Amino acid sequence: MKRRDFIKKSTLFSSAYALPKSSNRNDFDLSNSEPVVVSTWDHGLLANRVSWDILAAGGKSLDAVEEGVRVVESDPNIRTVGMGGYPDREGIVTLDACIMDYESNCGSVAFLRDIVNPISVARKVMEETPHVMLVGQGAKKFALKKGFKETNLLTDLSRKEWNSWKISSKYESIINIENHDTISSLALSGDGRLAGACTTSGSAYKMHGRVGDSPIIGAGLFLDNQVGAAAATGLGEAVIKSSGSAMVVEAMRNGASPQDACEHVILRILKMNKQVENLQVGFIALDIRGNVGAFSIKKGFNYALSNQKRGHLLLPANCLE
Ligand code: ASP
Repeated sequence: MKRRDFIKKSTLFSSAYALPKSSNRNDFDLSNSEPVVVSTWDHGLLANRVSWDILAAGGKSLDAVEEGVRVVESDPNIRTVGMGGYPDREGIVTLDACIMDYESNCGSVAFLRDIVNPISVARKVMEETPHVMLVGQGAKKFALKKGFKETNLLTDLSRKEWNSWKISSKYESIINIENHDTISSLALSGDGRLAGACTTSGSAYKMHGRVGDSPIIGAGLFLDNQVGAAAATGLGEAVIKSSGSAMVVEAMRNGASPQDACEHVILRILKMNKQVENLQVGFIALDIRGNVGAFSIKKGFNYALSNQKRGHLLLPANCLE
């Protein structure tokens, strides 16, 4: 779809959509919440099964999201996260991740090499340093000091594919082909505490040094335990310049449902970008009452939802296209 058509469609869409007035959130008893976890893409199901077991046993939402996404990071067959993730154009796998809890504590690592589970390094940054974000060599040095093992993340398959890629060296975003799919995971525990995690190897064959939205609090992930949580996948550059996840949470603060909030921010992103033909961004959102939303620009984005009532589901997100 051309940009002109997108804008036309989104104008129609936005006139039918207005943020309702802010509701009073303090009237809601959080101590008896129904646990829920929502995660991006097919691999979200793998993460959710692990997270759900923790939530169902009365565990912490922070442990649930960390343990869930770790499984995805550790799987060399999932090519967009952690071990076996696509390398940059120099053949080096660099990882981005962040984590956030119900008290707005957060930790992040970016441009991290040779560590299988960046999400756990991000949690250590959150819990054991005075900082929010460590990058590159500093992040790796910190991880090794904390006992993480140095591991080569480039698998034989990734090396082979990178060698073939070098022949054309063509860099273009490929929509909904699994060459960049971040896992973002949001959980609400039975005691009403939200947590979120986001981890990725970023776009395949990116420039060396490129960092996307995924380790940036407010872009790839944001939450406010008064309101809800949101996380992103898709073209990181578009998510960063819209402060995407923070905007989804702010829309919920203003009274939008998680679904409407995701739609609202997707429309903003469309208006901010001239090139929309190959632009894919998707959001998931979870409010403090356990309501879930998801929306993307283009078809193909799906997410995993796990709760007591419905078990584990893989659902297609609504989209603008
Ligand atoms: N947002 C990620 C990045 O730009 C990639 C993705 O989720 O598709 O690094």
